[in-house]
Amino acid sequence: MLAKVSSCAVVGIDALAVEVEVDVASGLPSFDIVGLPGASVREARDRVRSAIKNSGFDFPMGRVTVNLAPAHVPKAGTLFDLPIAMGILAASGQLPLPARDSPVMVGELSLDGSVRAVWGVLCIAAAMGGSPRLLVLPRGNRAEVEAVAGVRAVPVATLREAAELAKQGWPRAEITAGVGDPPAQSRDDPWKDVWGQETAKRALEISIAGGHHALLIGPPGAGKTLLARQAARLAPPLSRDEVVEVSRIYSVAGLLSEDEPFLYQRPFRSPHHTVTIPALLGGGAAPRPGEVSLAHRGVLFLDELGEFDRAVIDALREPLEEGVVTVSRVFGRCVFPARFTLIGALNPCPCGYLGDPERPCSCRPAEVHRYRRRLSGPILDRIDLFIRVQRPAAGEARLRGGQRSAPVRDRAAAIARARRLQRERFGREGRLNGEIPFDEIHVYCVLDREGERLLRRAAAGWNLSPRSVHRVMRVARTIADLEGDERIRAQHVAEALSYRQESQLA
Ligand SMILES: [Zn+2]
Repeated sequence: MLAKVSSCAVVGIDALAVEVEVDVASGLPSFDIVGLPGASVREARDRVRSAIKNSGFDFPMGRVTVNLAPAHVPKAGTLFDLPIAMGILAASGQLPLPARDSPVMVGELSLDGSVRAVWGVLCIAAAMGGSPRLLVLPRGNRAEVEAVAGVRAVPVATLREAAELAKQGWPRAEITAGVGDPPAQSRDDPWKDVWGQETAKRALEISIAGGHHALLIGPPGAGKTLLARQAARLAPPLSRDEVVEVSRIYSVAGLLSEDEPFLYQRPFRSPHHTVTIPALLGGGAAPRPGEVSLAHRGVLFLDELGEFDRAVIDALREPLEEGVVTVSRVFGRCVFPARFTLIGALNPCPCGYLGDPERPCSCRPAEVHRYRRRLSGPILDRIDLFIRVQRPAAGEARLRGGQRSAPVRDRAAAIARARRLQRERFGREGRLNGEIPFDEIHVYCVLDREGERLLRRAAAGWNLSPRSVHRVMRVARTIADLEGDERIRAQHVAEALSYRQESQLA
């Protein structure tokens, strides 16, 4: 007998329909699965066989053939266990054959027949929102599915339970209501523990407001990590759509739990400089998203940028350029979103004190040269804001007689306004000034005459590359947005230019 059960494969963060066809025929006992890669076939067979027996059913004598179709859809993970087992029970006459519009099923089986949570369920739920079909899923994934509106979900804890429900013709499912409003964010001042450093704070506010990649350059102990971490908290909360979008990535990464079924906070990821390329970009037999995707819509902080392997830094090129990362795998390629704001931190030289007003640098010029060469041009080329950070003692001296900082609620409000202006400008959520493509710069970054003159003079005087000029224009756009100014004026250009002192790294 032939039984067909509907299921889903998760590719990247998208769900694709998969049909599980099970044929039970007479003949010598065998159990074959077609369409699963390599070792996972053997494992799935062992789990399914034990789960069926330990749930009080018979594993059919004879030839059991399972086909996961279509063949070209890459399949990975353990989520086909439940539909395979249900198909075997139907094809061997222990359950009614599923109808055409039968439920979509996913779930991993334990040897004892319990259904265990799988990764990627939020992606499947997102694809099924509004569909009249039922989604039968592990009880452990229930909270995750509730993030999506309009899914008819039936959580099950065991194969036995799923089989009983199938015999009864499936219950009326609860329809999920979707993610609620994000909890109110704490209102304490992210900068309250960061003394002085007004220039760095201002530059990081621009970075967060417009999604501009930034590099903090300063000696050890200057508080670069604290600055980056606190700056990330200045961003406005994720919208409801973004909550689902970001949570889908965490679902595939297997990082959601029943207690924390989705992410409300913008991510802040800070991988160590020993991070491998697969951990950074994603990968594996069942590809999991890497750090660049886990930082999607948030901040990717790379401390001690000079210590990262050159190949790792080079690998950042695609996500920085495209906002996605392509992961190669056995069955082809899959794509994960990776649109983040990069904040890097760098010592100015190996000892860290080059240019420090109080402590002499002990490095030889050749060492400094070698240290800086390790940072590939392609990355420095994508940095919008170069920010000098001094140690607090020096920063204190600078601040004396300097400006008093604006209250943080004004700064947060300015960032929120800048984000709103960008949403109106680009007509959609999430696109930021830092991503304005080259051929649209002159549409969105209109300078007044003074600003134009200043930029032209600086470009000639500093010998700025066209790419650098565009970076200045994008940053100036954000500075104007922070002031609610539609026109980009000379003072905005001047400030943007002040963060462009690549000479510090030459
Ligand atoms: Zn040094």
